[in-house]
Amino acid sequence: MNRFPLRRAALIVGIVALLVLAVVAGWRLSRRPATAPLAASGNLLSNPGFQQDGDGDGRPDAWDLGPAAAWSDWTITPEEGGHSLRLTGSASYARSAPILAWPGKGYQVSLQALADAPYTSRLQVVFLWEDTRREVILREDGAWLEVPARAWQLLSWEATAPAEASGLTLLVRPAGDDPLYLDDVRLSEEGVRLEPYPDYSRAALAFTLDWETAMGGLVHSRSGDGYDPATAEARGRAMREGTATLLDLFERYDIRATWYASGYSLLEGNARRDDFGSPTYTWASQAHGWRDDRWVTTPWFADDPYGTAASHPAWYFGDLLARLRESGQDVQSHTFGHLYLGYAAPEEVRADLQQWNAAAVAAGLPAATSLAFPWGASLGTSDATLAVLEALGCRAVTRTYHEPQGRSQYYLLPPDDLYHMRTVPGRPALWAFPDHYFPGQDAAGARAVVDQALAVHGVTSLWAHTEEAVAPAQVAAWEEVLAYAAAQRANGLWIAPLDEIVAYRDNLAKIEVQARDYAGRLRIVVRNGGDRPAAGLTLTLSSPARSAELGGAPYTDFRQDQVRLPELHPGQQVTLDIVLGSWEAGP
Ligand SMILES: [Zn+2]
Repeated sequence: MNRFPLRRAALIVGIVALLVLAVVAGWRLSRRPATAPLAASGNLLSNPGFQQDGDGDGRPDAWDLGPAAAWSDWTITPEEGGHSLRLTGSASYARSAPILAWPGKGYQVSLQALADAPYTSRLQVVFLWEDTRREVILREDGAWLEVPARAWQLLSWEATAPAEASGLTLLVRPAGDDPLYLDDVRLSEEGVRLEPYPDYSRAALAFTLDWETAMGGLVHSRSGDGYDPATAEARGRAMREGTATLLDLFERYDIRATWYASGYSLLEGNARRDDFGSPTYTWASQAHGWRDDRWVTTPWFADDPYGTAASHPAWYFGDLLARLRESGQDVQSHTFGHLYLGYAAPEEVRADLQQWNAAAVAAGLPAATSLAFPWGASLGTSDATLAVLEALGCRAVTRTYHEPQGRSQYYLLPPDDLYHMRTVPGRPALWAFPDHYFPGQDAAGARAVVDQALAVHGVTSLWAHTEEAVAPAQVAAWEEVLAYAAAQRANGLWIAPLDEIVAYRDNLAKIEVQARDYAGRLRIVVRNGGDRPAAGLTLTLSSPARSAELGGAPYTDFRQDQVRLPELHPGQQVTLDIVLGSWEAGP
């Protein structure tokens, strides 16, 4: 009996404690800035204070660290969970994630540094200017600046992007072996910055699918016991089933994906008995990994049942195109015959891709502007074949060979950076687009890909065959990942078809931005010098906008230090006048 008063006392104490916690929490919340800066005062660097470790590997995201470069909880700006970075030793370094840089523009780096030693030390920032291949075209060594002993010091360096520059990576290195601490690194661009993504986004993600019927890839399979039409037909049925499932999911999350179709996916049937030139590919041999030599002598399309999508639904998917079109999906080329581009002759590739384009046009689709390498195999593709791709209007390729183990001589993209587009060597207008295989397994791994794209402000895709969205566990994994990605739109993730991401990037080079101070306002003139409409163009200013006018009329499409332009038609020019505020005063 006498335990009840004790319980009541404990309850009262608990309630009081909760109230105190609530008041403290409320006070802490009220002390936070009402609106956190989206672009951290125009800081172009990801994770500039070394605080984020999304992948939990004990190292700051978006930084590549050399030996004895490590986190320290000693930080210039005391904040919970704050970190600085300690470099100990002459060979130690920190390297930033690359950022998109504009030729001719000035860039300034500043950081806080401290030497944990009785002596003054020195620190250098190196500007690594990169081309569209992300290869260094100019290395500019900043001055070695003095770092005081046991006192934080603000240091800064400046450089101008050379004419051929497309990207910038920063390298920070110490002199001597004493421990140096870094914090609060800032990289800013002079004037007004044109952002690489539209609509206030900071990263881009494409969902891409390899979409094959029983013909093309499946009946030509290199796995299993060899030639096996029954298995090809079963897989074709699964490809069709996965298509319906994925379309339902994409529509639910308002996602437009890219469908890399082989030729028979564009056909509603082949009752006319078209032999498509009756190609026979002598390279599809045992010597090249096929289980037997059937295709060395058999025409590639010999198994065509000459039926329709209704009579042979595993063989033709043309009846599905209307629904893809209705939901805004993008259809691109996986080659007509699922060719191995490393083995096929350039003229075989040309005839095949022309066949694909003809089938697309017949189905009411545009010709392809991007291609997913069949067999996940860019390896062995000759320069002459790449020239054919470009000549036929291809501006991006994906499914490039980037296996972490082996044959690195064939990498178009390095396996340790599948978050940035790079042009193909010798082809500055042909992008290699990174991808991560997501066959409806390991949803956590796919979510981590989304996180990493956001962390490094990068570009990537998640891909599968449509037959990999059929089993209940696969469908559940897809749903989880699509829901997660869709939710990340609020954090700046742009989800779009692969070709749209590439086209946006290409068009940016044709957007002219001029800014100057004018009667106490910032006047920005933007012109679309390209030949396609530019929607969602986003500019970052030096400080938050307080008010804006577009062509003299009030304009409200700005968020803190960023402003989004209305869609600009080719040749259209607009003038923005902006009154800037400051971060201290609050936007
Ligand atoms: Zn394929």
